[in-house]
Amino acid sequence: MAFEGLSERLQKTFSKLRGKGKVTEADVKEMMREVRLALLEADVNFDVTKTFIKKIRERAVGSEVLDSLTPAQQIIKIVNEELTQIMGTSAVSLNKAPKIPTIIMLVGLQGAGKTTSAGKLARYLKDEKRARPLFIAADVYRPAAVEQLKTIGQQIDVPVYEEGTTASPVDIVQRGLQQAQENKNDYVLIDTAGRLEIDDQLMDELSQIKALAQPNEILLVVDSMTGQAATHVAEGFNQRLDLTGVILTKLDGDTRGGAALSIRAVTGKPIKFIGSGEKLAALEVFHPERMANRILG
Ligand code: GDP
Repeated sequence: MAFEGLSERLQKTFSKLRGKGKVTEADVKEMMREVRLALLEADVNFDVTKTFIKKIRERAVGSEVLDSLTPAQQIIKIVNEELTQIMGTSAVSLNKAPKIPTIIMLVGLQGAGKTTSAGKLARYLKDEKRARPLFIAADVYRPAAVEQLKTIGQQIDVPVYEEGTTASPVDIVQRGLQQAQENKNDYVLIDTAGRLEIDDQLMDELSQIKALAQPNEILLVVDSMTGQAATHVAEGFNQRLDLTGVILTKLDGDTRGGAALSIRAVTGKPIKFIGSGEKLAALEVFHPERMANRILG
């Protein structure tokens, strides 16, 4: 399960405090050392960890804790609040265009779960918002991607605008958007190409698609299993494309949690959804406070 290591370590650290009637500054210092190690081991970004520990320490040596009759609970409450804070405080909903269609562009590295997440998002929009989405298949470098999107489209009854793999992605997007106008689709989901790593050619193409489509959302799909690398990827994409949010995938696996805890703090962009399985129903709105509760058990 995701966060298992981090969760266990934090709980063990706090359980040492539980029996204590009073907590001293030395206790707090020792505990902070353990929390710091637990976060770094969970692959949380170094600077994020440092800032987090500083904040907790400042609060934990205050009267809120040291004079409290239940210091352990107070400290856990503070850690919970600060964990929630670094993940963004509260859920952030999808942007919506004032006039249809709302255009959502999905970007990310190959294998992150972009095409699958496009399917999950379309299903979510249909179910939750009674939307009539259209997919645009703009990943022309991986031939299987177009077929994969068509299969997903059939499963959830969402049309796919595609031109195979020979036309240019920018042209495909342009014609796809025309089709959406004609069909009065209220949402358009653009599945773009991925690469094994960030490169200029990919970023140029994505920038061109962005300039043409002027999307309301540019969501980065990123694999939580890759830890720190996921945070670097998010930084790279955000610098070039100014993302509006993130979909963090594969949280059903045994990810250590670093990406979930670092991305918001490093990029300033919210995680909007999390992927929790391969099925199209396995998409959840990201709630920072629920995630913090889950980590602290
Ligand atoms: P793309 O190259 O980014 O378009 O990636 P795909 O959508 O093809 O996904 C790559 C693999 O990751 C596929 O086997 C998906 O089933 C799997 N996948 C995507 N999202 C999740 C998730 O949230 N959990 C799990 N366990 N697998 C996922």
